[in-house]
Amino acid sequence: MYVILLGPPGAGKGTQGIILADRTGLPRISTGDLLRAAVHNATPLGHRAKQFMDQGLLVPDEVIVGLIAEVLERPEAANGIIMDGFPRTVAQAEAVDRLLVSRNAAVDHVLSFEVSKEELVRRLLGRQQAEGRSDDTPEAIERRLQVYRKETEPLVTFYRDRGVLTAIPGTGSIGTIATRVQEAVGA
Ligand code: ADP
Repeated sequence: MYVILLGPPGAGKGTQGIILADRTGLPRISTGDLLRAAVHNATPLGHRAKQFMDQGLLVPDEVIVGLIAEVLERPEAANGIIMDGFPRTVAQAEAVDRLLVSRNAAVDHVLSFEVSKEELVRRLLGRQQAEGRSDDTPEAIERRLQVYRKETEPLVTFYRDRGVLTAIPGTGSIGTIATRVQEAVGA
């Protein structure tokens, strides 16, 4: 089962992705986590990505598509994965399609987490105090929300037209939201 978690920064994709991975036994893979690890380890990928991440911009598709290919070709991805933070552009979604077709699979479920802007900003500012992420500054948060609207939100229509989208209200307790997620994917 191939599941995509879609939603703006702060919508709770990471939290719910971890719970769903636990429930289904599928690996959860987050491009944000992979990129932060690359930055931390000072790899060439990390070096390229950091400037974009700190500004709240997307890392260019030509970099990310290679990373997505590497992820989807892993043996552990053979039976499905939970994609957290990708695809984030139409070009990335098309790359995911191509890679899945080549292994006779397809995107099964796309969960679109819906949270108001005020709540997102509140959560992200709170996270900066707790975790100190360099892209949780007010300026970078504003930019990331704008980038989401422009580059990523079109994927809601892209997947809705294909009949695989479920909207998940992203407010309420973590457990309540986890139940909505499980019902949406039949887990
Ligand atoms: P959030 O959803 O809170 O923004 P992520 O950890 O998913 O956090 O992403 C952090 C940053 O990493 C993004 O702002 C972007 O710069 C980069 N990034 C992560 N995934 C992608 C992707 N699929 N395409 C382009 N950039 C990405």
